[in-house]
Amino acid sequence: MKKFDLIIIGAGRASNLAVTASKMGKKVAIIEKSKFGGTCPNRGCVPSKLLIGYAHVARAIKESNRHFIDSTINKIDIEKIFEETNKYISKIDPSYKSRFNENVEIIYGTGKFVSNNIVSVNGEELTAPKIVIATGTKPIKAPHEKAWTSDDIFPLEGEIPKSITIVGSGFIACELANFFAAVGIQTTLLVRSQRILGNEDSDISAIFKEEFSKNVDILFDTSIDEIDYTNNQFDLTLINKDNNKTKHKSQALLYATGRESNTNSLDLQNTDIEVDERNYIKRDDFFETNAKGVYVVGDASGENMLQHAAAQEVNYLGKILLEGEKEPLKFKYMPHAVFTEPEIASVGITEQKAKEQNIEYVTSITPWLASAKAMSTRLKYPRTKFIIDPNTYEILGCHLIGPESSTMMHQILAVMHLDNDVRHLKEMLYIHPALSEAILPAAVGAVKAIESYKKDK
Ligand SMILES: Cc1cc2nc3c(=O)[nH]c(=O)nc-3n(C[C@H](O)[C@H](O)[C@H](O)COP(=O)(O)OP(=O)(O)OC[C@H]3O[C@@H](n4cnc5c(N)ncnc54)[C@H](O)[C@@H]3O)c2cc1C
Repeated sequence: MKKFDLIIIGAGRASNLAVTASKMGKKVAIIEKSKFGGTCPNRGCVPSKLLIGYAHVARAIKESNRHFIDSTINKIDIEKIFEETNKYISKIDPSYKSRFNENVEIIYGTGKFVSNNIVSVNGEELTAPKIVIATGTKPIKAPHEKAWTSDDIFPLEGEIPKSITIVGSGFIACELANFFAAVGIQTTLLVRSQRILGNEDSDISAIFKEEFSKNVDILFDTSIDEIDYTNNQFDLTLINKDNNKTKHKSQALLYATGRESNTNSLDLQNTDIEVDERNYIKRDDFFETNAKGVYVVGDASGENMLQHAAAQEVNYLGKILLEGEKEPLKFKYMPHAVFTEPEIASVGITEQKAKEQNIEYVTSITPWLASAKAMSTRLKYPRTKFIIDPNTYEILGCHLIGPESSTMMHQILAVMHLDNDVRHLKEMLYIHPALSEAILPAAVGAVKAIESYKKDK
């Protein structure tokens, strides 16, 4: 049996741990069943955001009338867009592997547990005192063999469809629909209920729904009843909430209806490792599973499902395993963004969660018009919404909708990272009239809301 200091199963973000540990002289085996780099650079965050760049330019030209500029797009070379995106993806696996030194054994295959501390791959058994599971998630399978999930378009091979139907209402469905519609592919988004981006604060998702519907054809309260595929085309029977059926043709069909755990591939029944009701691996505050010496990080734990969370966890596990760190990692907050048009960024609780959890709070929601740079976008919908603890001035939640929301959110994150007091955002000096200045009235509004809340109390 081969012996290592550390075995890593899944070479997404956890590749970084192999780099760090091997630099410290540890013998590491890293097992990957698909591509090194994992979801984010191969078929997730990065390629999807590369596409958003093209969508953004196309959308700006299409909407130039808002700025009294009459322009038309002559041609969008979608083949070239995918060629470039595929070229980027093709470099990931080799570039990730090039970061490993001679202490790392690279193994392609599916890692399975034989016991708590023995892993088998390609018929060979390996052991190590520390084993890290970082197996991420996979898309929920599409119900037809010709239908895609996001994995099938990164890289996109074969003919580019002229029409696409996307099923789903989460961020992946919306980001992909945003791209395909912007570059001129006839796009239909099928949403089962009336809510889209239903996990966002309801004020924000309501604005999103109104604005996004201007860019993408969305059929609400609609799902697919029957799928027929003939002559390289889907003939779909759609059904709405009143059981009315309609026919819909589409060259491509993409399901973005959620992701599921990869744990079935691990043969965990041979170990003491426990999973939760959704099949995600349970762990303690130090990422350790029920099996001593076996850890789980990233999406495989089912906790945050974001690349920046996986990255922090992997770095922190390195500190625990290699530097003897004794404090657990506690995320003070977990921001995320939806890179669509409109763009959304969010951190902390939504107003509906605050209500559900009976939390004492005040809100402030303001448009961005206080900033000339925001005004220059000639968009009326952008908003900042704060949810604040009226006793401590703590930002419990902040939700932005508008251009560059994901960038704008960072000034709020910086305050939250330090002593988390919304008054800093009211008192700090902003560059006038930068887009960031749009946060100021919301901070002023939040402090005023607290003062009147205290008066009325
Ligand atoms: C389309 C899309 C867009 C996204 N956009 C964003 C975004 O904008 N921002 C953001 O923060 N997050 C985004 N995400 C989520 C982000 O990609 C994940 O949170 C992140 O990649 C998780 O990293 P990980 O290392 O835990 O898992 P992964 O990167 O999924 O890596 C797990 C690896 O384990 C391998 N594996 C699984 N089982 C086994 C086994 N038994 N043996 C060997 N190998 C195995 C898999 O092949 C995979 O390579 C997006 C995801 C998708 C799908």
